Amino acid sequence: MEKTLIKYTHCGRNIYVFSCSERRCPACLQSLRFGLPDAPVALTCPFRNGHAVPCALLIGSVHGPTHLGEWHDTEIHVGLSDSEGLVYNYTLSGVRRDESGWERCVCIQLCPAWRQQLRASWDRELERFSALPLWASERFAEEREFGSCCYGFALTFINHMLSLDGREGLSRDQFTGSHVLPRMKAASLYISVYHAVLQHGFCIAGVSS
Ligand SMILES: [Zn+2]
Repeated sequence: MEKTLIKYTHCGRNIYVFSCSERRCPACLQSLRFGLPDAPVALTCPFRNGHAVPCALLIGSVHGPTHLGEWHDTEIHVGLSDSEGLVYNYTLSGVRRDESGWERCVCIQLCPAWRQQLRASWDRELERFSALPLWASERFAEEREFGSCCYGFALTFINHMLSLDGREGLSRDQFTGSHVLPRMKAASLYISVYHAVLQHGFCIAGVSS
């Protein structure tokens, strides 16, 4: 997904293309004249280099970003970046610390840059948390019974940090619904539009918004 998706509105529809060199609207075939309010905008790719996003939850797929379309617990793999971009993730062989491999994933930043103290403790706590016997490799299979192990590891850490910050923890459903699903839906839409444009040269979505 190297190309930039461009979106514009015409005849009440959202039109997606890779370039605006086409002079006619692919929906109504009328010539295009853009004014300021309907000028084409470049869409931001929902995938980022997770090693460059500090203190974040990273959502990747074992099969690559184009497979992130649907929310399937079994196919996603999540990790947590520290302030230096090292990615901690729970796998069959225990907690791994990846210096590479998370270059294209959905990144949800959890600790803003201005919370310097929290950031400093984030790294320390993540290191300590990852070493807990709870995340030993032999426990991975047991954990699997409850769904995705890597997700449980990440969410338990996020809740640990929330409690250190004097805030209430989030249930799995709360966290998924408020933080993860909206981002995954946006990524999923981006992927399907991208593929349609790749195939047909454009993509038309019903009603403009
Ligand atoms: Zn049109």
